[in-house]
Amino acid sequence: MTESASYDLVVVGMGAAGLSAGVSFVDAATAAGHDPRVAVLERAPEQERGGATRYTSSWFRVTEDRRLDPNLVGLMESLSGGLADLDYCRTLEREVPASLDFLDGHAVEITYFKQPFPNRNTGGGLGMPVGGGIAIVDGLAGILEGTNGVELLYETEALALRLSSDGQVDGIVVRGRDGQERTLRAGAVVIACGGFEGNPEMLAEHLGERGRELPVIAPGPGNNRGDGIRMAVEAGAATAGQFDMFHAEPVDPRATKPDPVFYPYVYGIVVNRQAKRFFDEGQNSFDSTFEALGYEIWRNQEQTAFFIGDQTTLGIEPFEAVVFTDVAPVTAETIGGLAEGLGLDPGALEQTVAEYNAAIGPGEFDPYSFDAKSTRGLEPPKSNWAFPLDSPPFVAYPLTCAITFTFGGIRTDSSARVVTAAGELIPGLYAAGEVTGVYYNEYPAGTSVLRSVTFGRLAGAHAAGEVG
Ligand SMILES: Cc1cc2nc3c(=O)[nH]c(=O)nc-3n(C[C@H](O)[C@H](O)[C@H](O)COP(=O)(O)OP(=O)(O)OC[C@H]3O[C@@H](n4cnc5c(N)ncnc54)[C@H](O)[C@@H]3O)c2cc1C
Repeated sequence: MTESASYDLVVVGMGAAGLSAGVSFVDAATAAGHDPRVAVLERAPEQERGGATRYTSSWFRVTEDRRLDPNLVGLMESLSGGLADLDYCRTLEREVPASLDFLDGHAVEITYFKQPFPNRNTGGGLGMPVGGGIAIVDGLAGILEGTNGVELLYETEALALRLSSDGQVDGIVVRGRDGQERTLRAGAVVIACGGFEGNPEMLAEHLGERGRELPVIAPGPGNNRGDGIRMAVEAGAATAGQFDMFHAEPVDPRATKPDPVFYPYVYGIVVNRQAKRFFDEGQNSFDSTFEALGYEIWRNQEQTAFFIGDQTTLGIEPFEAVVFTDVAPVTAETIGGLAEGLGLDPGALEQTVAEYNAAIGPGEFDPYSFDAKSTRGLEPPKSNWAFPLDSPPFVAYPLTCAITFTFGGIRTDSSARVVTAAGELIPGLYAAGEVTGVYYNEYPAGTSVLRSVTFGRLAGAHAAGEVG
């Protein structure tokens, strides 16, 4: 093995977390009068750089005045049953405005829009980078490309951390596109290479054998194979977050594009292979139930479900804004015909729809509010947006569960420094983004990119103070 180069900082991963770390390190070191030497590693070729960040729309759970949803810290506490690191969450809350300014100040314009349908986020609105996550990747990578002393190393995989005799991380073993292993010396290392959604063996280990059945929602996160977690644990890191839970989404398995998620299931019914309902589709806004629905489809419904709607469903404006598949629905003039098109028992689907239609209670259907128009005496109930499916042609979308990211990861402090089980720091080692564990039981939507940018930024700035 050769020892090829020496850097002040090596960053593993070119998603939101890694690139934010690289840029903030350069900013801080340059401001302090240093000429930083930085390497940023990416397993993928240049045209596929950016992991999950490349493929996300990157919705941000922020208010119109660019603050984190003020309910998020409490929500993290309640969803996790008190397990989430609340110092970390409060740091996120405090730092989000600076993170948005950081993006804006580095060629990534942030916009804000009102979500037309009910959601659980602040004021019904969301922020996002103009152009989505790829704007973060191209914006921040573009800055690093133009910075002297920074090398972006593509098709280069991190394999193992190197520790000095006193426990300081002082380098990293990598394998480049020539297949050769070499060690990069580093004053500090930021691990930002995602979770283990792209590693079927680790999914099976933590979720059970059926973890292997989960398709990744887009190609990028397929590069996230748990290397960062493994490397950090080998170096003594503690873990956090729930290893046997993941962010699930209901997607159209027929789609030919990434991220074919289907949100308007709240405006119809969802049935399984037996043509039976199994989920209260209207229990809450789609942004707070899409994970539970995806997980249920995977865990208990043989990875297969079908959304059933009608022309009232299709007529909800803007229906297409919440449908991300590129394949048209299956349609039929009758419910029985629809069932035949889906390979379901026609009599069973006719019975399910008839029972559902008969159970609908009084009230006005309003897709833009929690209308409480619900079923009576039906199991499972539908708690909002229950209107009769009686306007042909009927429509159906097949659904399966895709994995977006895993919850379990490395434990850090609120400066993104990696800690051991005894709470001690591992000198020279930082971690940020999906590779760090914070979520338990349920993912509060719109927080993953925000935390990746925020703790990547903090890691880079802190490391610059130590080694810059
Ligand atoms: C389709 C989709 C939609 C999403 N929607 C949202 C949303 O709306 N809002 C939100 O907040 N979050 C969303 N998420 C989640 C969010 O995008 C990710 O959790 C976040 O971008 C993770 O950023 P990261 O930098 O930690 O990891 P990534 O962006 O995944 O980057 C990890 C990088 O590490 C590289 N890598 C992995 N292993 C190695 C190795 N051994 N050596 C070198 N490089 C390696 C990968 O190639 C990649 O470049 C979505 C995700 C997807 C896929």
